[in-house]
Amino acid sequence: MDDSFMLYDLKVEVVGSEKPMVCSHREGDYFLVIGENLVFPENNSFSMYALSALLPLLPAKQRVLDQNDWMLSDSVIACPDPNCGARFKITRIGKRKFSHGACTVEPLYREENEKTEKGEYRL
Ligand SMILES: [Zn+2]
Repeated sequence: MDDSFMLYDLKVEVVGSEKPMVCSHREGDYFLVIGENLVFPENNSFSMYALSALLPLLPAKQRVLDQNDWMLSDSVIACPDPNCGARFKITRIGKRKFSHGACTVEPLYREENEKTEKGEYRL
């Protein structure tokens, strides 16, 4: 049985805005998201505060989204420091195939198992 699924590879890049940057960001610095891994180029650095603001969004941006979902259209994220003008642009740069069995030991999700006997959704 085919247990493959697709995820987008992402590039997260520092871009400027009309406000100056007050953190140590440098325009053009970036990292890649490939599967579960963050890949940092050798000569880049990245603010851990900015990274903490970006991390919750990355798994959603990796996945196929509804055309009407704001998560698909909104791709520029502000620095969490309200005085900093840095923005972080998330770009889909490719698509990669993964195998469910290589990512987890849990069984494949089946829609018929979605609800309990009481009609509640399983998590
Ligand atoms: Zn900043």
